[in-house]
Amino acid sequence: MNKKDYYEVLGVEKSATQAEIKSAFRKLAKKYHPDVNKEAGAEEKFKEIGEAYAVLSDEQKRAQYDQFGHAAFDGAGGMGGFDPGDIDLNDILRSVFGGGFSSSFGGFSDFSDFFSGSSSGRGSSRARKGRDTLVRLDLSFLEAAFGLDKEIELTLNDACSECHGKGGFDEKTCEYCHGQGYVVTEQRSIFGVVQSRSSCPKCEGSGKTYARSCSTCKGTGQVKKKKNISIHIPEGVDNGHQLRISGKGEAGTNGGPNGDIYFEIRVEESPFYKRDGEDLYVEVPLTITEAVLGCKKEVPTIYGNVVMDIKAGAQSGTKYKLKGKGLKVVNSIRKGDQFVILNVVTPTKLSRDQKKLFESLSKTDLESSSEFKDYKKYL
Ligand SMILES: [Zn+2]
Ligand SMILES: [Zn+2]
Repeated sequence: MNKKDYYEVLGVEKSATQAEIKSAFRKLAKKYHPDVNKEAGAEEKFKEIGEAYAVLSDEQKRAQYDQFGHAAFDGAGGMGGFDPGDIDLNDILRSVFGGGFSSSFGGFSDFSDFFSGSSSGRGSSRARKGRDTLVRLDLSFLEAAFGLDKEIELTLNDACSECHGKGGFDEKTCEYCHGQGYVVTEQRSIFGVVQSRSSCPKCEGSGKTYARSCSTCKGTGQVKKKKNISIHIPEGVDNGHQLRISGKGEAGTNGGPNGDIYFEIRVEESPFYKRDGEDLYVEVPLTITEAVLGCKKEVPTIYGNVVMDIKAGAQSGTKYKLKGKGLKVVNSIRKGDQFVILNVVTPTKLSRDQKKLFESLSKTDLESSSEFKDYKKYL
């Protein structure tokens, strides 16, 4: 699917501040809200705006989007970690406009009825997806390189088994709101009488109460439960990568689906291997004779040692590439390379014999290289 650029959708610059993004969203949301805009395509446009805002208003998702574009959120359950199609537009509208969105159009509208296409009456109990959970996952350098299957114990809100997540027993219609789920209050202001509707405080919008509250969950319908979550960490993950386990998070309410669990990867640094994306850099020390005479040098890679042919006259800082000895690119067959940087180490502790050898060497001409000739021009 060809998706539009989120910045274009909101009509903001790539460098836009959060305030600019929010203000652009407010303007467009008012213009395209299906309650006021009955033109064909307004609803699509409105969803598009909501999706763009959901991503750009979240600095982390925005950074992912800036780096990878729409591909950042592709492949649900994979490295995407976020499905923009899953966003709850009502949540966004509430967070941006507060409760005052509908009344600012002079009418009542229930966004959830509109967007979920649900035909249930207004204010009826609204199925809500459980909250998403973000868990930091610390991995060693080699665990990240080779991936692993892990079982992680988390304490999450789960539906109370005593009351089946309802929070009580013997369901009855809420007397306070007469099952509507909301209460309407009228206020006089200079503009005349302003009606506003808010969720019923007694039944919290469900329209139902219970004759007996559940003591196990204290009426919340949810209890904390330890859960073992199995997770497969693919080879080559890096800092900041997120893995999404969908539907295993906190229980939803009123029959809504479970939330998702996001594992955010943190990789411990290796003292030897320096990582740059999928490439690795290592520094290999050479003795002065190895450098002068050349040698076969054993060099570690994450796949085991390899023997490198170092030519005579090796210099410090020379870089060799060991192709395909880097890390695997996540969810791909491609591998990075390992770069070997030579470091000729001058010996500091010499035996008497070694010292003699260096002294006799010092009487020979070791300055035939062009570096010395160039240098002497300035003397
Ligand atoms: Zn009520
Ligand atoms: Zn309960």
